[in-house]
Amino acid sequence: MADDPLHLVAVIGAGPAGLFATRALAAQGCRVVLLNRDIKPGGLAEYGIFLNKYKMKGGLRRQFQKILSDPLVTYLGHVTIAERGDLTVADLGALGFDALVYAIGAQGTKYLGIEGERLPGVYHAKDLVYHYNRLPPFSEQPYPMGKRVAIVGVGNVMVDIANYCVHFCDCDEVVAVARRGPFEKAYDDREFEDIEDAFDHALYREELERIRPRLEAAGQNPAELIAALAPGTEPPTRARLRFRFLASPRRVVAEGGRVVGLEVEETRLERKGDRIAAVGTGQTSVIACDTVVFAVGDRVDEHAGLPYKDGLYLTVPADDPAAAYQVLDPAAGKAQPGVYVVGWARRASDGVVGRARLDAETGVKHVQPYLAERPKRPRAEAERVVERLRQTLTARGAVVVDYPAVQRLEAAEKARAAAEKVEEFKFASDREMLDLLRP
Ligand SMILES: Cc1cc2nc3c(=O)[nH]c(=O)nc-3n(C[C@H](O)[C@H](O)[C@H](O)COP(=O)(O)OP(=O)(O)OC[C@H]3O[C@@H](n4cnc5c(N)ncnc54)[C@H](O)[C@@H]3O)c2cc1C
Repeated sequence: MADDPLHLVAVIGAGPAGLFATRALAAQGCRVVLLNRDIKPGGLAEYGIFLNKYKMKGGLRRQFQKILSDPLVTYLGHVTIAERGDLTVADLGALGFDALVYAIGAQGTKYLGIEGERLPGVYHAKDLVYHYNRLPPFSEQPYPMGKRVAIVGVGNVMVDIANYCVHFCDCDEVVAVARRGPFEKAYDDREFEDIEDAFDHALYREELERIRPRLEAAGQNPAELIAALAPGTEPPTRARLRFRFLASPRRVVAEGGRVVGLEVEETRLERKGDRIAAVGTGQTSVIACDTVVFAVGDRVDEHAGLPYKDGLYLTVPADDPAAAYQVLDPAAGKAQPGVYVVGWARRASDGVVGRARLDAETGVKHVQPYLAERPKRPRAEAERVVERLRQTLTARGAVVVDYPAVQRLEAAEKARAAAEKVEEFKFASDREMLDLLRP
């Protein structure tokens, strides 16, 4: 019934985790306010998944539309909850929600702490990914790519960046740099198919032969990898992708402020229990390149206002760490009542959209018993809290974008895509989007 009493929950972050948490909460009758930093919802599903995966993004957008059209859900985009945001964590806590679910992803940068990491021409993958997927303000900033790009990391994000370099930029060579060896690669072979055309088999074979003694010393046999290479494969004609294994970045080498190489220390492999670790040998060399991209995962934003340590938000230590969804109050040494964290905000850079959905749904299962202990409130009272939130945001000068406005924006983008005969069009700045929405 429209005026049955209910619980009122704020979900912060409208990426997959926040959206699926919203769906799970609304399904159990909660009134949900979904606050999001970006104007448009979707998080990395909108601004991370590779440029031309239109079908996958379209499928997710349709699921998100359904969630956002639920009358129990209010979307408030272009609102940041952070130490210097439109609202702080404390402001939000004081408004009187029954529970708060943080799903703000992993917005911090994992710096390796090496020399030259902040030079022009050195990027962290998330920023570059946001840039080519047209998320403001990254979309408005230049990210020039050179001819020879070194990508540090061998996960699926490396594959995406390599895909961008070889198919969307004017690169001649991409070098994927790994501290460990080919058996420890973290990308999925299916994802790799997207860059197979640039994969230089001859150089890969050479690289495996170069490191063969070190692989064999760790009990690994490169023969099966060599056998899997198609014999006589033609070298790539446009840009080529090669690997540099057993190489740990030491510094970005620059001349006159321009990147000219990545200095690496050779490593060898050592078994540590179930794990294979890379151990430096002291021998260094320089990989010639003019652009370096670090694709080594992210950390959570330490300035969001949640208790933070070593790249993660602090949650209540549970017997099973996989069940730690409640945010810790470090001073009290126990859980902050009613405050939860899900998705990549809980475990930075952990898996695909399906994993974020599962994590959000599991998180909501932890919220349920907390809510069950609290009295429900009349719908009208819940709406007064939502109204107070809107008024507070307006008083602070926030320009809030609601879901009907997002739909107008999406319609305008679709029309532009049709007019320009392209698959997808996205406005590149908040200014353009807000101008378009101005009455
Ligand atoms: C390069 C790349 C490619 C990927 N490709 C795929 C793929 O092909 N297929 C696949 O299944 N998965 C892919 N993934 C993984 C997938 O994107 C993630 O699993 C998923 O997006 C994580 O969801 P999340 O909601 O936890 O975080 P995010 O998607 O990061 O969402 C976080 C949301 O929180 C908002 N936010 C951040 N800070 C604040 C704040 N302070 N206040 C308010 N709101 C805030 C942001 O605006 C954003 O909307 C990819 C990831 C990356 C990085």
